[in-house]
Amino acid sequence: MALMDTLSKQNRPKILVADDDMMIRVLARECLEEAGMEVIEASDGESALALYHREHPDLLFLDVEMPGMSGLDVCQAVRATPEGSNVPILIVTGADDQESIDRGFNAGATQYKTKPINWSLLSRDIRYMLRAAKAFDEIKAQEGRLRYLAYFDHLTDLPNRRSFNEQLRRNLIAGEQRGKSTGLMLIDMDHFKRINDSIGHERGDEFLKSISQRLLEILEAIAVIATDYPGASVSPDPALLAFEIARIGGDEFTIIVRNPQSEAQLTDIGNAIIEGFAQPLEIQGHILVLTPSMGIAVASRQGMTPEILLKQADAAVYAAKTDGRARFRFYDSSLEDDATEQLRIEEDLREAMLSGGLSMVYQPQIDTRTGLLCGVEALIRWNHPELGALSPAKFIPIAERTGLIVELGDWILRQVSQDSKLLANKLPENITISINLSPLQFSQSNFVEHIGDTLKELDLLHYQVELELTEGVLMLEVESNLTKLKQLKTMGFQLAIDDFGTGYSSLSYLRHFPIDTLKIDRSFVNDIGSSGGDGIVLAILGLCHALHLRVIAEGVETREQAAFLLTHGCDVFQGFLLARPMAIEHLFEAANKDYMSLILPPSESVTHSAASTAQSTDKASS
Ligand code: C2E
Ligand code: CA
Ligand code: CA
Repeated sequence: MALMDTLSKQNRPKILVADDDMMIRVLARECLEEAGMEVIEASDGESALALYHREHPDLLFLDVEMPGMSGLDVCQAVRATPEGSNVPILIVTGADDQESIDRGFNAGATQYKTKPINWSLLSRDIRYMLRAAKAFDEIKAQEGRLRYLAYFDHLTDLPNRRSFNEQLRRNLIAGEQRGKSTGLMLIDMDHFKRINDSIGHERGDEFLKSISQRLLEILEAIAVIATDYPGASVSPDPALLAFEIARIGGDEFTIIVRNPQSEAQLTDIGNAIIEGFAQPLEIQGHILVLTPSMGIAVASRQGMTPEILLKQADAAVYAAKTDGRARFRFYDSSLEDDATEQLRIEEDLREAMLSGGLSMVYQPQIDTRTGLLCGVEALIRWNHPELGALSPAKFIPIAERTGLIVELGDWILRQVSQDSKLLANKLPENITISINLSPLQFSQSNFVEHIGDTLKELDLLHYQVELELTEGVLMLEVESNLTKLKQLKTMGFQLAIDDFGTGYSSLSYLRHFPIDTLKIDRSFVNDIGSSGGDGIVLAILGLCHALHLRVIAEGVETREQAAFLLTHGCDVFQGFLLARPMAIEHLFEAANKDYMSLILPPSESVTHSAASTAQSTDKASS
């Protein structure tokens, strides 16, 4: 019971009643206590103010005419304190002329009442004032939340892109005024897209949180992290070496280094970050080492704009990625040309998709048992109006980086579909047409329906379509990926893993994903005959046989490679030894050709042509 009492006391609003007329105080106490409020009393202005500071009442009832300090003076004094700006204050006076009412409101009164007081209404009015004050406090809190939403990234709690823009602008101005430089480090996590694509966005988000945590730990170990964002109350000493950190997009973080003393100092910071990320991150049982690539740009001259500095840092990040990732680069003007070229290729590629210049070629795949064409891989070609033939190895990564690959992937699907009309009834029906998919394309949520719609033509022609995915997409088992792959299988697509062995080499997915074909990467085929090279190829072939997967060797260029692969049971060859990628019209010739003589060692090829005919007749009769 006693506890209940204290509890209810705690929730009772505390009202300070200040009046020199004892009768008023007694009546006020009676009617307010009856309404469930707690009352504290003062008989003059000075003691009212002292009581206010000591007791923090929820509302003040102040008589204007008191000896010494008047109610208006108390009101003004309360309003002048930081906590007193919102507390509701009821001013009570005998005068009801407009002038004294105005004086009351000017002093900061919330409400104004004239004597004689209508006691039956007082508690209701006070309740109303308390409720209004509470609502106001809530709005204030909302305002704080709104500022948080506008300036902070809700995932990592770091300042967001908008904050960053302001941080950078402010620092550049301050730096210029003091004749100091400003360093900008742009951090982009390596291969982060693949993580999102393969383990899902939710766990990707968890990784982003721990990445930002790791960054903060690394930076805290080196210097002060500045927290002055618009609206924050503390500003660190501007002379200090300090950082301002932000997350400006997906896996992109920025660090503004105030007043760096030298390039060597920025180098130290870069190294500390690289080292800090060498320790793996762990999220829900996934342990991964994630590496950052960083670009550093320094504003030391007058007139540097935030936009230019960010572009420079961006060009430097890109250079760090091209250099092999997990490192940092300083911006220098030679990077300008690369960046301009990137931009140009991106723009031109967009243009080429609309107005021609792109085409598809098809590289034959040969069945090693029959020596006949059993499939083709569709490969994109771009004849650039000025730069000439550009390799997809050059422009596909750019398209992937900029997201253009999604549209380009669509273009490719439509083009293959259209090309295939030329093939109607001209190729053996059991032929497979392979199409390369980029991880980003595959990760589009509507991808499955989309590809079905786009490739209707091929379906009508009864050609098998095989989709080539890289290991990155399948790196870890993810529910959504698995669902997509199963849907694709149900729709009749075959699935292949491209460039096998170069990716994450996590073999578990081979058993769990509905995969049909594995393509041994060209680099391994190229190493056949060298020490160690044979072993890898044998291991991959063994694995495929054990799991009943079809194996295609890519990049078969020599008879020695062919002989080795044939001896160890490789199913299909694709490579320059047999045929280069060709325009669709030329496939008819390839379909009528016997490649066996190219596959077998010269001595055996003569005797084999009879056997190969026998084999294909076998097939037809069975
Ligand atoms: P990839 O998927 O591994 O394609 C095979 C590449 O190896 C092709 O290069 C092909 O021309 C080349 N190649 C085939 N046989 C030999 C050989 O015996 N020796 C050598 N040295 N090379 C051989 P290409 O056409 O330049 O394509 C390069 C990469 O660009 C492809 O590698 C693929 O990752 C990407 N790519 C090409 N076309 C497309 C496409 O339509 N969509 C997507 N997403 N990526 C594509
Ligand atoms: Ca491929
Ligand atoms: Ca490949």
